[in-house]
Amino acid sequence: MSETLYHYVDGARVAGTSGRFGDVYDPATGAVAARVPLASADETAAVIASAAAAFPAWRDTPPLKRAAILFRFKELLDAHTDEIAGLIAAEHGKVLADARGSLMRGIEVVEFACGAPHLLKGTFSENVGTNVDSHSVRQPVGVCAGITPFNFPAMVPMWMFPMAIACGNCFVLKTSERVPSTALRLAELFHEAGLPPGVLNVVNGDKEAVDTLLTHPDVAAISFVGSTAVAEYIYRTGTQHGKRVQALGGAKNHMVVMPDADLDQAADALMGAAYGSAGERCMAISVAVAVGDDTANALIGRLAPRVAALRVGPATDPASEMGPLVTRAHWERVRGYVDLGVDEGATLVVDGRGVRVEDHPEGFYLGGCLFDHVTADMRIYREEIFGPVLVVVRVPDFDSALALVNAHEYGNGTAIFTRDGDTARTYASRVQVGMVGVNVPIPVPMAFHSFGGWKRSLFGDVHIHGMEGVHFYTRLKTVTSRWPTGIRAGADFHMPTMK
Ligand code: NAD
Repeated sequence: MSETLYHYVDGARVAGTSGRFGDVYDPATGAVAARVPLASADETAAVIASAAAAFPAWRDTPPLKRAAILFRFKELLDAHTDEIAGLIAAEHGKVLADARGSLMRGIEVVEFACGAPHLLKGTFSENVGTNVDSHSVRQPVGVCAGITPFNFPAMVPMWMFPMAIACGNCFVLKTSERVPSTALRLAELFHEAGLPPGVLNVVNGDKEAVDTLLTHPDVAAISFVGSTAVAEYIYRTGTQHGKRVQALGGAKNHMVVMPDADLDQAADALMGAAYGSAGERCMAISVAVAVGDDTANALIGRLAPRVAALRVGPATDPASEMGPLVTRAHWERVRGYVDLGVDEGATLVVDGRGVRVEDHPEGFYLGGCLFDHVTADMRIYREEIFGPVLVVVRVPDFDSALALVNAHEYGNGTAIFTRDGDTARTYASRVQVGMVGVNVPIPVPMAFHSFGGWKRSLFGDVHIHGMEGVHFYTRLKTVTSRWPTGIRAGADFHMPTMK
């Protein structure tokens, strides 16, 4: 009998009342592990109302006191790391060490958000006019909502809610219905740290809950991370309803390998970046762009035996390098792309479709797959696969590599491997991509920088966490003041100037 999950509202677990449920799988075995309630529009509106009611008191709570609660939350996260990593791995399938690492990247955002008093410091100008002063402050926007994907059950929600809450907002999180348990536990721990009820609510649901968040007049801002089609819909609908929206979408990240690169280092980097987390990372490298046939041949020669030897198994087995995919539907989709690549005429150098894991015949496992001779017109090149499938595109020179990357519809992350500073600098300067690595395959910015792609990898103007996060979750207000001094300037009918 599988467990029935709940929402987390007003500091307590709340049972779903819509009568609709989604299945949550254990991807290692293929069994249904839990049922998650899918909130109705009315239930979602009630969650928003709870956040709106908590907002006035939280807005007026001094940033120093907010930071003290964030500090306690960070300590609780450290103390519960193994438990939370276990929840991530159980529902997502990624191996435990990887789950732990992704949680760490989320905790770093909490650490950054602990600096709220400093981050929210305003600016002051004395005597902008005679006896007139001006100061600017950043104030919270109100109730903010987050809608998150399955692939980072802790990290992506933590890109959002610690920042929003540090800035004085209340937050409604609609986590992925495929991996709901982690966010519910994070909310419990935050309340254990002293967060007042209603400041962070978690509502489980699907499109009905999302549409309520997008259209409800009491929601001021929406942060979304997920696939591009949904990101575009979220951006359009949210902004049409007068909300501030940042919507991060899909990716097809290229790694350019120059002939002068350290090819052993490049091959190591590709193994982790393409197959880590079974390729279910928005910053995974899914395209290796080999400059010159010699580079391509040498790279394939290094990669092929290692991809074929990847140890695929359940997240809980310390020997596993790669876990299962998240659901059977996603497994079928990724396998379908491998079939398609063969039909499109690419060379399937390593075929992971036959992988079987002992004792887990129904688990959603797929071995690593490697394609060579992929061309820019193929769908396996153009579309995001989001699985353990690396495609190699051969180009004759640097300019063709740069042109290829810049012509792609996505612009999330990219990397170049070279020993030449001029080539690296030119690439970093000219590439139309938001996050660039030089001999670094997955250049995910740290919490005190900001994360975001270009082109159809991000809809909206503001990247996530770091100072961009502070700006997204606050509004600027500038106050100009004069106090009676006994000196009268008289009535003035002109635009005020210093002239
Ligand atoms: P998804 O778009 O299917 O779902 C994301 C969220 O949107 C979920 O909470 C889901 O319930 C909701 N949703 C799905 N369909 C909807 C609809 N029609 N209307 C309203 N809401 C809807 O994404 P996913 O499969 O969970 O995650 C994988 C995708 O996320 C990949 O494309 C990946 O590249 C992307 N991603 C991007 C980043 C980034 O930073 N750019 C980070 C992580 C993941």
